[in-house]
Amino acid sequence: YSIERDNGKFGNIQDIIKRTNYAYEYVKLMEFPDAIHHGTKPVTHGPHVFEFKDVEFTYPGSEVKVLKGVNLKIEAGEHLSVVGLNGAGKTTFVKLLCRLYDPTSGVILMDGIDIREYDYDAYMREFAPVFQDFKLFAFTMEENITLENNAKNEERRAEVLEVIEKVGLKDKIDSLEQGLDTYVFKHYDESGIEPSGGEQQKLAIGRALYKKSPVIILDEPTAALDPVAEYEIYRKFEELVGGKTAVYISHRLSSCRFCDQIAVFADGVVSEYGNHESLVNKENGIYAEMFAAQAQYYQTA
Ligand code: ADP
Repeated sequence: YSIERDNGKFGNIQDIIKRTNYAYEYVKLMEFPDAIHHGTKPVTHGPHVFEFKDVEFTYPGSEVKVLKGVNLKIEAGEHLSVVGLNGAGKTTFVKLLCRLYDPTSGVILMDGIDIREYDYDAYMREFAPVFQDFKLFAFTMEENITLENNAKNEERRAEVLEVIEKVGLKDKIDSLEQGLDTYVFKHYDESGIEPSGGEQQKLAIGRALYKKSPVIILDEPTAALDPVAEYEIYRKFEELVGGKTAVYISHRLSSCRFCDQIAVFADGVVSEYGNHESLVNKENGIYAEMFAAQAQYYQTA
């Protein structure tokens, strides 16, 4: 035995103790029951009808009931705009639809079946969300759309190019020496590019379209784009979404005109529901007031 070897063994034991401490935390974590119910029912890929029935929701650890009985049906292929003042519960509504939380009471149905009964991963695959805090990665343009390893694949590239064209990034890609292989940001490649806010938004939308899910969720950005660029993107987006079901959280009401139905959230419930024409002239209506206030803002801006 040399002293060195003994020291080595001693070091290993210390190392094992240290690692076991981390493992202990991990085991404790894994012992927690799932926060949401995981069902087993298979999901048939395709258009779906959703229905919220008396859905109430209180965030874990909070006393405040955020949703106080939401009743709402979303038909297959419908484009729904979700509107309301800050804190009205719009994001919470979408989080429940996407199963980030389960309702405290009431039920959400997909094609007549409680969404908790479906296989969780299969259910999630039906949704392509674009949230405001989406992240681009320091990978190539193509990888940012596909979120897949960039092994060369002609078929996939053709699909990505189609998406790029749809979201209006073709000119941008054509202007880049490396095209779709250009890196986003400069972390891994000095010639990487820093896309503008609008371009980032388009890439994120491209990612959602590439996913080919029957339901698209879009939380419209409040500030990243100027109103004209925003109007252009969402008018186009409405075309791109086509026959898919779409749920928009609309902060600027100009995009609501394109939607089939508008649900106005207030005081934890859907307090107004209908299309733009039916809501915009409603006396003392929340939507009518919000629309008037924003129209003024557009005129003076
Ligand atoms: P909106 O999207 O309409 O602005 P939200 O759904 O984000 O509204 O929020 C509704 C209410 O829920 C707000 O009062 C907000 O403070 C509260 N809330 C949001 N997220 C949480 C959370 N994780 N924990 C506790 N309360 C939350």
